[in-house]
Amino acid sequence: MYDAIVIGSGIAGAAAARVLAEEQNKSVLVLEKKAHIGGNCYDEEDAYGVLIHRYGPHIFHTCDEEVYAWLSRFTDWYAFGHEVVAKVGEKLIPVPFNLNTLRQVYGEEKAAALEEKLKSTFGEGARVPILKLREQQDPEIQAIADYVYENIFLKYTMKQWGQKPEEIDPAVTGRVPVVISYDNRYFGDKYQGMPRDGYTPMFEKILDHPLIEVRAGVDARDVMELSESMGKVLLYGEEFSGSVIYTGPVDELFGCRFGRLPYRSLRFDFEHLDIPDYQGHSVVNYTVSEEFTRITEFKYLTGQETEGTTIVREYPFAYTGAEGEIPYYAIMNPENNKLYERYAALTEQFSHFHLLGRLAEYKYYNIDAMAGKAIALARSLAKD
Ligand SMILES: Cc1cc2nc3c(=O)[nH]c(=O)nc-3n(C[C@H](O)[C@H](O)[C@H](O)COP(=O)(O)OP(=O)(O)OC[C@H]3O[C@@H](n4cnc5c(N)ncnc54)[C@H](O)[C@@H]3O)c2cc1C
Repeated sequence: MYDAIVIGSGIAGAAAARVLAEEQNKSVLVLEKKAHIGGNCYDEEDAYGVLIHRYGPHIFHTCDEEVYAWLSRFTDWYAFGHEVVAKVGEKLIPVPFNLNTLRQVYGEEKAAALEEKLKSTFGEGARVPILKLREQQDPEIQAIADYVYENIFLKYTMKQWGQKPEEIDPAVTGRVPVVISYDNRYFGDKYQGMPRDGYTPMFEKILDHPLIEVRAGVDARDVMELSESMGKVLLYGEEFSGSVIYTGPVDELFGCRFGRLPYRSLRFDFEHLDIPDYQGHSVVNYTVSEEFTRITEFKYLTGQETEGTTIVREYPFAYTGAEGEIPYYAIMNPENNKLYERYAALTEQFSHFHLLGRLAEYKYYNIDAMAGKAIALARSLAKD
């Protein structure tokens, strides 16, 4: 009945399904285990009419003209330059650490002298890893690196990844940047912002095609079998020989037989407040205190004007696979990557079976990169 099956309706599955239907005239069945489409990008109005991102704040940003043009067919944009501040003591300081941060931390006079040193050593506009600052002879420049490490990087990373300081990879630490400019924007991309009406309407439009059928609330594992004895995919008990694009966790396809792939998960605690403003910023990172990593205040992300305000606190924890938990961040290291490869190898016996997405590929992707990869994969399947 169908030419292709796509499992998952996040940006990977939705973009791939659209290309298969629109460019290759294929009939596509999209299976989504959640009750809604959109995957991690899903947004909705809460009980107070505030547009929230149920799975954490998602800011679209890209330099990729093609992806931007493709997505712009399905949405207009609310353009804004995302800024993040970190709460350190009583101060809210811009991150990544930049010349504005320098002024707040060191005061005008000392900052002016340090700014000159940074500019003459690295050049205006440079993005300098703290490892490079540490390599300088000048103790004042080294002290900036230490400040960033202690107050912005260390505890935040420990919370986010559940690591002890000695487990934190020095190669990663060294890459934390200091930006020699007064630009507070978090991302440097040409296009930054939000789908004007929200992500969910954008996904509805992507999937709105006569050759696409979406079945939400259906776990693919209940209707699709990968028969290893036959080397075949069965859909509702019958052999399916068309393309299958799978965007879920690859270990779950095989009953986690080699052990679960490790992930970090997140608990999101939403709170609505009957005040117009809570923190005056879209995102405040808690880099030295608290158990949560950050608070997002949605009205500052979406530009929505509401009387009250809704915030969300994010608490990271180790994913166990228990009912209701969602795997968010793959913990990529040589051991886990090897485990992933063992699972991925099991899929090779099934022809026309493709792993795509942050879960199926056990990788972190931003939305734009994911959309680009999905479009390219679907286009490559013209003869699948
Ligand atoms: C907290 C957080 C914040 C982020 N913020 C940003 C940001 O600001 N900007 C940015 O560009 N990117 C951001 N990202 C990354 C972004 O979420 C990913 O790029 C994007 O979600 C990847 O899309 P995907 O389709 O691969 O995965 P997902 O969005 O997770 O979609 C996978 C879908 O597959 C479904 N599924 C899984 N298994 C099955 C099954 N067995 N049967 C049926 N359906 C199944 C899932 O329910 C899900 O809907 C963020 C990620 C996280 C975790």
